[in-house]
Amino acid sequence: MPTYVFRCSNCRKVFEKIMTVAQREHARPVCPKCKGRKVEPVLSGFFAKTSRKS
Ligand SMILES: [Zn+2]
Repeated sequence: MPTYVFRCSNCRKVFEKIMTVAQREHARPVCPKCKGRKVEPVLSGFFAKTSRKS
């Protein structure tokens, strides 16, 4: 199963979730830190690039 990377737009927490394509379309991930639902998907390639800076 592919791993998806998400970022919470509330607390900026970035986290990974392993889920199927079907799950990703129907289930909305919840931020593990603040339980917020304003979570946006991050392309893993993009995330790898940006995380190198920090
Ligand atoms: Zn959050």
